[in-house]
Amino acid sequence: MSFKYKYLKEDENHKSIIKIGDDIQIGHPDETLFISGPCSIESLEQIEEVARTLVKNNIKVIRAGCFKPRTSPYSFMGLGKEGLEMLVHIRNKYGLKIITEVRDSTQVDLVIEHADIIQIGSKAMWDYGIHAACGRSKKPILLKRHFGSTLKEFCQISEFIMTHGNDNIILCERGVRGFNKETRFLLDVCGVEWLKKHTHLPVLLDPSHAMGYRYGIKNLTLACCALGVDGIMIEAHPTPDIAKSDAAQQVDLNTLEQIVNASKNILNSVGKKLV
Ligand code: PEP
Ligand code: MN
Repeated sequence: MSFKYKYLKEDENHKSIIKIGDDIQIGHPDETLFISGPCSIESLEQIEEVARTLVKNNIKVIRAGCFKPRTSPYSFMGLGKEGLEMLVHIRNKYGLKIITEVRDSTQVDLVIEHADIIQIGSKAMWDYGIHAACGRSKKPILLKRHFGSTLKEFCQISEFIMTHGNDNIILCERGVRGFNKETRFLLDVCGVEWLKKHTHLPVLLDPSHAMGYRYGIKNLTLACCALGVDGIMIEAHPTPDIAKSDAAQQVDLNTLEQIVNASKNILNSVGKKLV
């Protein structure tokens, strides 16, 4: 018998559905999970405002970074544990599930303890300490593709986490480096089709980090819906221009509502429901 990686499909219809708590899932063929929130949690007022918009629009998962990997050491690095505690407050008050990022293995256990989904950021994709800790947990892991990795390298990292004991992995395409310097990255939609064909893991798209500018986010989100992906995650902030991280790409909350409504129509046309 020849060796087969765990991330590969066993047959054409093999698809993993991952539970997020008792009442939410990602990977069901009829559904697309919508996730939104600010790049970084900055204050309780800010995150409350976002949470109210999500609840109003029936979005069930809020995302906000507490430990931010930045390209400059002088940039805002996140509120850390204080931010995690605010997110727990938001979960209790609004019934939203929370996803937040682990920056390095020193806070991985803390993040696992507080979050419902653990995000491994693109820059941390190759952090083997993080894989081991995430593999010891059963919580869903959102694994972001490194912007310089091939599809197979990306999938191999999901294999590491699975060999450590956690099969609950969501693959996130967030853009790779291309020739073009005018947008932040290049959203690899061909790669998404490859992932859908070859792996059984849910695939989620993040147009915000790929585009890098808010003007493209609505159309890219609609394109992602047309691809029939399992999940979409976009960054939204009450006052994006003064956001402490990724200000250029975050949409305001009115735009988020418009995007959610337009997404429902496209998803319907491909036989999916926004959850
Ligand atoms: C983020 O999700 O806010 C983030 C830092 O993304 P990435 O790891 O894809 O750059
Ligand atoms: Mn961001």
